[in-house]
Amino acid sequence: MLLIECPYCGPRAESEFNCGGEGGIARPLNTEALSDEQWGDYLFMRKNPKGLHHEQWRHANGCGRWFNALRDTVSYRIHATWKIGAAMPVTQTGEPV
Ligand SMILES: [Zn+2]
Repeated sequence: MLLIECPYCGPRAESEFNCGGEGGIARPLNTEALSDEQWGDYLFMRKNPKGLHHEQWRHANGCGRWFNALRDTVSYRIHATWKIGAAMPVTQTGEPV
């Protein structure tokens, strides 16, 4: 069983969580000034990397809160989780955990 560390509740079973896709995407402030292409890019274009990926997850069957996760798409290992609005945890060399 895979355990995921909820930043609010601690480690819980993967079955309690839902992945919400790529994380760290900020909504544009002045949406009226965007072209259709720019708006479409914001809405639909997402990264699909092989390796570390910044994602947003929700503890749907627990506290119900959203949080960030850094997951390896090859091994499925979750390297770090952190609260929305907090900085991504890094090692002492400045690389992601
Ligand atoms: Zn939780």
